[in-house]
Amino acid sequence: MSGASERAPPGAADSTSRDAILVIGVHREELAFGDAVAAGLEGEAPEILRIPEGVPRACSAPNRRFYSETAHHEIYRQLRQETRRRASILIDLHCGRDAEGAAADLYCHDAAFLRAAGARLAARGLKERVRLIKIVDEADGPLEARPPDLDGIAHTWVPRDLWAAAPPLYVGLEIYTAGDAAALPEDAAFARAVIAALTAEG
Ligand SMILES: [Zn+2]
Repeated sequence: MSGASERAPPGAADSTSRDAILVIGVHREELAFGDAVAAGLEGEAPEILRIPEGVPRACSAPNRRFYSETAHHEIYRQLRQETRRRASILIDLHCGRDAEGAAADLYCHDAAFLRAAGARLAARGLKERVRLIKIVDEADGPLEARPPDLDGIAHTWVPRDLWAAAPPLYVGLEIYTAGDAAALPEDAAFARAVIAALTAEG
């Protein structure tokens, strides 16, 4: 994120959906997918926070790790400043590759939120394609076994002061697509269905 990010106007207030911000483009190579997802959102859509110049994903290579951590830290620091107390959840959209496509990993520190999201995904027939992963770090003590009802635990480059300090509640969403360059329309539609489940009340 360099300078101000572009922000779409929030939609009309709707009492049946959570107050959510959807962040697209933290990794610049994934911005096109984020745009494809955002373009199809309608109705109770979250506010879009578009990062025009994100961190190059390529800098995840081991020899660029220091730069990568610094760049990630800076982008998430700005994100925290821009979103603090402005919404109840912050969905950080990412895009990865998987031969099968239309699958997702959901990352959050709040196990209760993950379980509730799992129930809403199941009600929509999506749970089989979404793994629920609890974000942890050293401050949480030794790595615990997989929490009940969840699919795993993970560390993250996202700074703790973003993922452990709601509001907004940090939710990382990695969508796996089968496409090579351009996102397939069905992958973007799948992402929107998961986002709708995350932002639904109840
Ligand atoms: Zn990413």
